[in-house]
Amino acid sequence: MRRLSYPQRFGVIVIVFVLAIMFLCLRLVHDTQTQIAFTGRELMGVEYLKRARVLAGLVQANRFAAIEYSVGYPGSGAALASLHSQVVKAAAQFDAMPQRGAWTIGEPDPLRQFVSAWGAAGTDPSRRADAAYDGQDALAQRYSHMVTDICDRSYLTLDPVLETYYLGDVVCEKIPGALERTGDSHGLLALIWLREVGMADLGLVSRLHGLGAMESDGYRSTVRELNKVIDVDPRLERELAPPLEAYRAALKRQRNVEESVLSGQVDTPVEAFIMATPPTVETIDRLNALCLEQLDRLLSQRLHAKILLRNLYVLTAAATLLATAYLFFALYVSITEDLGGEPFYVSDTIKRIAQGRLNTDIALPAGGSDSVMASVVAMRRDLQTVRERELAATVFEASHDGIVIADESQQIVAANAAMLAMMGSPLADVLGKWMWFFLDGLAGFPWADIKQHLVQAHYWQGEVAARRHDGSSFPARLSVTSVGDGGREGHGTFVMMISDVGQQRADSDRIHYLANFDPLTGLPNRRVVFERIERRMSEEGAEHRAFACLFVDLDKFKEINDLHGHSIGDQLLRIIAQRMREQMHAGQTVARFGGDEFLILLDDAEENVMDATAKRLLGAIGEACEIGEHVFHVSASIGMSIYPTHGTTAGSLVQCADMAMYEAKQQGRDRAVMFRQPMLETLRRRTEIGQRLRDAIRNRRLQVRYQPQFRASTLELVGLEALVRWCDDKFGWISPVEFIAIAEQEGLISGIGDLVFEAVLKQLVEWRAKGLTLRPIAINVSAHQLTQPFDLAQSLLAGLVPYDLPPNLIEVEVTETALMQDVEHAGAVLRRLSEAGVAVAVDDFGTGYSSLNYLARLHIDHIKIDRTFIRDLFVNPDDTIIVTTVVKMAQSLGQKVIAEGVETVEQLEFLRSIGCDICQGFYFAPALDASELEPMLEGLSDAGATTHCA
Ligand code: C2E
Ligand code: CA
Ligand code: CA
Repeated sequence: MRRLSYPQRFGVIVIVFVLAIMFLCLRLVHDTQTQIAFTGRELMGVEYLKRARVLAGLVQANRFAAIEYSVGYPGSGAALASLHSQVVKAAAQFDAMPQRGAWTIGEPDPLRQFVSAWGAAGTDPSRRADAAYDGQDALAQRYSHMVTDICDRSYLTLDPVLETYYLGDVVCEKIPGALERTGDSHGLLALIWLREVGMADLGLVSRLHGLGAMESDGYRSTVRELNKVIDVDPRLERELAPPLEAYRAALKRQRNVEESVLSGQVDTPVEAFIMATPPTVETIDRLNALCLEQLDRLLSQRLHAKILLRNLYVLTAAATLLATAYLFFALYVSITEDLGGEPFYVSDTIKRIAQGRLNTDIALPAGGSDSVMASVVAMRRDLQTVRERELAATVFEASHDGIVIADESQQIVAANAAMLAMMGSPLADVLGKWMWFFLDGLAGFPWADIKQHLVQAHYWQGEVAARRHDGSSFPARLSVTSVGDGGREGHGTFVMMISDVGQQRADSDRIHYLANFDPLTGLPNRRVVFERIERRMSEEGAEHRAFACLFVDLDKFKEINDLHGHSIGDQLLRIIAQRMREQMHAGQTVARFGGDEFLILLDDAEENVMDATAKRLLGAIGEACEIGEHVFHVSASIGMSIYPTHGTTAGSLVQCADMAMYEAKQQGRDRAVMFRQPMLETLRRRTEIGQRLRDAIRNRRLQVRYQPQFRASTLELVGLEALVRWCDDKFGWISPVEFIAIAEQEGLISGIGDLVFEAVLKQLVEWRAKGLTLRPIAINVSAHQLTQPFDLAQSLLAGLVPYDLPPNLIEVEVTETALMQDVEHAGAVLRRLSEAGVAVAVDDFGTGYSSLNYLARLHIDHIKIDRTFIRDLFVNPDDTIIVTTVVKMAQSLGQKVIAEGVETVEQLEFLRSIGCDICQGFYFAPALDASELEPMLEGLSDAGATTHCA
């Protein structure tokens, strides 16, 4: 039942109820119908008996006639024939048997059976008296059987009501019995009379004697039965008494005749014999007719009563059904009205409310305000209202906009925290004030407009000038909503929302500024400059109005930054940005492109104008910058490109300028270079080399050569420098100078580093296996490798382990610039290497920041003087001094000096003379194949290596 919905449960109850009523009613109707059928059948029996009564008379008459006929009584033959035709006539009447509904007593028809038996017995009467008697006796008995059969089949003898039961008993048992006995008497009398005339028979007399006693008994029992009927229904006495009396009298007369016969008075006239029984038969027949009539009456009455009762039951059932249906319908309607909706809807809605699933408003139900549903809805609304109020309160307080609520007299009744903060007033000051108190002057305020909007749309919004408590004014966005009666003066309530748009504007300006300007220099940023270039390019006829793009990159700015800190670097950038700005007209763009890169847009694309501008810029940048106690001399490299000659998109134009700037750096910095097409060629070559290099590294097509290093004093081989070589299928031998730079930019340098290191290790192992004396091999470590977050020292040292090689067979060469990129990290890496026994050399010394003092604090073993200084030893007098100083200082700091690029004996002699430790260069050998070196490694003493690494 629980699984059913409420309407289903209700339906089940209704169905059960209706079924019960139906069952009871049908049961009663059925019972009554059975009784009706019973009574109907009885009535049919009565109908049969009525017809049988006619036959009874004929049977008796036939009896008399047959006996008369047998003694040759005159006219008896004709009487027999007439009787037979009467029987046939009566049988024909049976067809007109009234049909009482569908009631029958069943087949075969007892009357027809009897008539056909008559045909056999009655139409051929015997000539002999006793044979005739016997034949007719059999017919009479047959008649009795027929009556019994009718009574049995019509249930007349089973009738449950006393009076009809007794009446039934009379017509079914007593009367046929009496008729038969009377007939018997008649036959016996006739025979006795015949005997008296001729042949007396004592047997017959005694039979008649016995018969007389039986007749009296039959009469008495009939009287008893009918008296019982009268007892039940005394009104019948009047009807029944006369025929009973007639019966008694007739029987008495018959008895007298019989008595006289029995007493031997044979002189009794024949008529007396013949006429002794017919009156009795007649009275019995009358009684029979009366009883049947009464029975018919009583049964018909009963039948009608039963039919009435049955109809009453049917009606009652129908009425009960209708009443039940109406009752339940009324109940349902009253429940739905009470609940305020159909039960399913109500239970579902309540469930949903309970589960909090109901978000839409519920329509108020039809049942009016008293209904359950109405109260549920009301409850929910109350709840909703409470929630909404809580929410409203939260919104009110949490809002960043000022909110003011005023009553109908335009007096403030509430103001939120944001409003108070905006106005700078405490709540107490604001409450009760006129709602427009915050306006900065009332003149020019659009009163009429506001009024009109509030009346029409209950809403107005616009911008107004507002004034804070301290008197300062600010632009405010104001929205006014009238609640309730509307904006008519003196009516309604007002909600105002006020926001300080001054602050908003400042914020959005700031956002705009940050998105478009560099906060450090105040110059437009990369995004803006790209936008401006694109805008110029998209202007109509732009291709006929050339303009120029100058890419300015400060030289060696990173070193300054690293050495002196970002604060100094920032100040320097600001000063230089300002100087560049000063060199340009107001309309020209000077933008910070990123880091130490700037982009300048020139309206003039004449080469001489551009050159002049660039010169002006370089001059301004190059002026000394004083920051605190420091004085800086900064230079810049400038690349220049022209629209539309060099590029037609912002990206390509800037890239061309960038390439030209790169070229300027290559050419020695502090200069401006115009973009030339070959640079693009260079760029293409770089791109292609980058791609091919990636392939070459993956397929391990790079090789390693070794350049020997010698002790200057003894010219003993003390070490080797591993130098990478690459012969590309397309470009042939490519200088490491070119592809190492590309590898660094393309992020391929670690791959090369690993490859070289592995080759070096294998070479050492091979040489060791060959029993050659091993010398430390220096490997070049690029800036990128050094600054990687993972520890280079650890990976190098771990690499040695599987080959069982001591760390002092490895030396690393690091450029000054690489060291400077992240001094702390690089310092830590070098310290770990040095502690493990790996020697560290600073490569290309003199080309970078070149501070020996600074390097002294790091774990450096060797200083490699850059080969340009050696090359220019006898060309540039400065270089002689520089090289000499470096050697002296390094030695004083305990570091050894390696001179690279030694090509001549003079250079070697000079270096020896100033005490330079180690020399390397074409004078001795270029980078060689491992096999070419092997003869040099043979026959070396182990001492050389230790000296080198000391
Ligand atoms: P570097 O480290 O300064 O290497 C010395 C360069 O000077 C080598 O050029 C060498 O062949 C050259 N050289 C040696 N003696 C003389 C001489 O007497 N006269 C002249 N003019 N040059 C001489 P290379 O092999 O072309 O290497 C160029 C640069 O490429 C190297 O300069 C180094 O920075 C880089 N490099 C080479 N191999 C590697 C490597 O395996 N890893 C890394 N990261 N860089 C490497
Ligand atoms: Ca080197
Ligand atoms: Ca070098």
